[in-house]
Amino acid sequence: MIPFFDGHNDLLLKMSLGRVTAEEVRDGHANGHIDLPRARSGGLGGGFFALYVPTPGAPAMDMEAMRQDSYDLPLPAPVDQAHALDRVRTGIGHFRRLAELDIITPCTTAAEVEAALPGPTLAAVLHMEGAEAIGPDLSELDELQAAGLRSIGPVWSRPTIHGHGVPFRYPATSDIGPGLTAAGKALVRECNRRRIMVDLSHLNMAGLRDVAEISDAPLVATHSNAHAIAPSARCLTDEELRLIAATDGLVGINFGTCFLRPDGKFIADCPIEHLLRHLDHLLSILGEDGVAFGSDFDGAVLPDWMGDCGGLFRLREGLVRHGIDPPLLEKLAHRNWLRVMRATWGA
Ligand code: ZN
Repeated sequence: MIPFFDGHNDLLLKMSLGRVTAEEVRDGHANGHIDLPRARSGGLGGGFFALYVPTPGAPAMDMEAMRQDSYDLPLPAPVDQAHALDRVRTGIGHFRRLAELDIITPCTTAAEVEAALPGPTLAAVLHMEGAEAIGPDLSELDELQAAGLRSIGPVWSRPTIHGHGVPFRYPATSDIGPGLTAAGKALVRECNRRRIMVDLSHLNMAGLRDVAEISDAPLVATHSNAHAIAPSARCLTDEELRLIAATDGLVGINFGTCFLRPDGKFIADCPIEHLLRHLDHLLSILGEDGVAFGSDFDGAVLPDWMGDCGGLFRLREGLVRHGIDPPLLEKLAHRNWLRVMRATWGA
């Protein structure tokens, strides 16, 4: 079975919120999308594990609003740096605990990911979604990189000292707000110098253009879809996709139904045909080497036919039925991620 490497999950957030323990992730549970038994049965080989810090006291996302014909959710308030760094350290503690229990193998190189992908543990790369924990002098990067951090999204959707993200707005484009701040540009340059991946998912259009101008690495959106199919602010316009394609970059298809369904509704009813339309569109612009998956497991409503990571085998079956041949299936499942890791991090 060809294993999937996945561009984005929120398991560490789920653990930080006390909703699931490392032992439950090892033994199996019903509180989320990822555990080791289901990963094995579905064919999940590994992925990017996100460090994400919720705004303290902010209400949960208004799911009812995201089931309407159109919506524009207010973004939570920015997060203070000291709080963010504290919570990020907690998340890193959970990452280490998963490694201690032989649930994951922490990886910092493409070779390590490739070696761990077949199992029995998950090949795990540490990612940070929103760089609130990093101050203007960038000094926190030493500690975070030493802890294994290999990928950073300068923003989740709420604003940071680095730049502006897109709100959960439908219908809309990502052309909302100004580009990266001076601190954001400095962060991208420093990530380049340290060969840390810069993730474009959640960034607005002006910010994406700024990263494209500054970065010398392939452009990557770890968990984003095609705006031409689902006109959500979080989805990438053809112009953005062409910027990514020009750098031999990569887009990981998000399984969140509000980014798959053409009507933007965050409901589980979401036939695989929607996902396949995104796939075909992304392949038409990015080519066979530029498309992969970025599930948003534990962070989104998934299609009912997938359910959780144990349902990945149904994605594999659907791709085969769609005429995807074994070499392309292997690229989509993990080869393209390995290629971009090598190009960004070095061999
Ligand atoms: Zn996200």
